Amino acid sequence: MKPHTAAFRFYSELNDFLPGSSRGRDVIYAFRGAPSVKDAIEAQGVPHVEVDLILIDGEPVGFDASLRDGARASVYPVFETLDVAEVVRLRPAPLHVPRFACDVHLGKLARRLRLLGFDTLYRNDWDDADLAAVAAAERRCLLTRDIGLLKRGEVDRGYWLRAADPELQIREVIGRLDLRRGSRPFTRCLACNGELGPVAKEEVVDDLPPRTRRDHEEFWSCAACSRNYWRGSHYDRLERTIHNLLTED
Ligand SMILES: [Zn+2]
Repeated sequence: MKPHTAAFRFYSELNDFLPGSSRGRDVIYAFRGAPSVKDAIEAQGVPHVEVDLILIDGEPVGFDASLRDGARASVYPVFETLDVAEVVRLRPAPLHVPRFACDVHLGKLARRLRLLGFDTLYRNDWDDADLAAVAAAERRCLLTRDIGLLKRGEVDRGYWLRAADPELQIREVIGRLDLRRGSRPFTRCLACNGELGPVAKEEVVDDLPPRTRRDHEEFWSCAACSRNYWRGSHYDRLERTIHNLLTED
């Protein structure tokens, strides 16, 4: 029996997942039976978490819709600045302030996100199943360079990092996920993601190095791991880093 075919067009950043010859043009997808649109999209390399809107012959459809012979599918990414408010989005409404889970290779990115105040889980001993489970259970956006991880069924929100360099990754995430407005620098523990709160000097004075005890009056402490923070020698450098991240394009 001759296979069925459907024409797929992937828009904007979704082309990052396609071979060069398939980018920015209609791709003929051959199939048998009546696969779901979701399966057909992932079979072409695009993880479902990056997809926000699917039109079949101009009508919005869900991931579960069956693909028909001769269908024309238009597939749009989550972060496309396209006015799709009037039609059915596939993604849950964006979280007011996004929360993240970083995979085991993204320790530097996790610290940068925490520096900006974003709730970011990271452990270097989590395997793929742990990561997918925690991201799903806590409705976190899973950040990874592993496309296969984003194709796991339980992963509902996620983003595939295009950049490999941590300094570019933080800029990519800020830009693509529009994080500038939601940032609250110096409110989270860089080591454990706990929330920082002001603490009286007398409460922490015994734990401080002598010079810090002499030169500083204001302190913050992590509610989770009790690590203390003050505006020490790293502070100016971190503040410049934050300023650069939040003002550059
Ligand atoms: Zn902490």
